[in-house]
Amino acid sequence: MIPAVYAVLDLNAAEHNLQKVRSYAPDAKIMAVIKANGYGHGLLRIAEALQNVDAFAVARVDEGIRLRKAGNKRRIVVLEGFTCAEELDELVKYRLDPLVHSFTQLEILENRTEQEACAIWLKLDTGMNRLGFKPEEFNAAYQRLNQCSIIRHPISLMTHLANADDKQDTTTLKQISLFNDTVGLLPGQRSIANSAGILAWKEALTDWVRPGVMLYGISPFPDNTGAQLGLKPVMGLHSRLIAVKPISRGDKVGYSGTWICEKPTILGVVAIGYGDGYPRYAKTGTPVLVNGQRVPLIGRVSMDMITVDLETQPKAKPGDPVTLWGAGLAVEEIALCADTIPYTLVCGVTQRVLILEKSAL
Ligand SMILES: *Cc1c(COP(=O)(O)O)cnc(C)c1O
Repeated sequence: MIPAVYAVLDLNAAEHNLQKVRSYAPDAKIMAVIKANGYGHGLLRIAEALQNVDAFAVARVDEGIRLRKAGNKRRIVVLEGFTCAEELDELVKYRLDPLVHSFTQLEILENRTEQEACAIWLKLDTGMNRLGFKPEEFNAAYQRLNQCSIIRHPISLMTHLANADDKQDTTTLKQISLFNDTVGLLPGQRSIANSAGILAWKEALTDWVRPGVMLYGISPFPDNTGAQLGLKPVMGLHSRLIAVKPISRGDKVGYSGTWICEKPTILGVVAIGYGDGYPRYAKTGTPVLVNGQRVPLIGRVSMDMITVDLETQPKAKPGDPVTLWGAGLAVEEIALCADTIPYTLVCGVTQRVLILEKSAL
């Protein structure tokens, strides 16, 4: 029997979204970003669904090792690189390609004597001020890296866009020109674009693109859904009604009684809560699908349950299916109702939620 709460993955949708990436960046190699457990979809499942990419990118060394140990033969890029010699040992052992973004890492590399044991990506900070060498540090870093015997040549070059999801913000063009001016004619492959870069900034398309969120069918832009961009959602989050009961005028619902019944209606209790990753701050009115029809969430989200107003669904009964997001209810819309971004919702689906594949249902 399927547990009350489960997520269904449509892996054909992931393949479709990958084709969309190709249509935007037909000449680029694709580095599929599957960090954070494949944005909550399951690292190994997503990797398997995306076999037609040129590389995978993860944030951390342990994520890369998991992928490699599962038998993955692709290039695997570790976006945060390493912070100590032991981590570099692991990268070499599992043939993972780290980002090099700091002088601390550079010193660790300079202390090594292996020959061409590691392919690296040199990260340039063009304004995000997170990871990367500053433009004025770049030449010195590049020269020193070039002397490191452990490094395989040519060195690949990367930067990350801070504001690409805002199509009006010219910061992105400034970042791109700063990158191009700084790396100049150096040999080595280049990579700039995340999903928003791929979809909105042609200037960001270079040798490699790094799609993340769009592969899962989700829009990187605050004012679009993935569906509007021709993407298909990969994850559906589902539950069921566990209680249905009439409530009267004046009844208060949920913790702190924040929702007060104004006219008699029917209350539905759904087995889903923040303990599953449903957002605690979803407001009253957040849409929920009961038997495929929209009803509003009412009152506070609890750990294991939410309450909905079934006024428009008087025949609904315990056991009826509920969809929290997925096909027919964009996770982008839920994110807006909870003052967050869809990335946090899919990443936040917890261990307790069983993940199923649509093809197996
Ligand atoms: C997460 C990440 C990406 C993917 O970003 P999306 O917005 O999900 O497409 C690309 N590059 C880097 C460096 C990242 O950290």
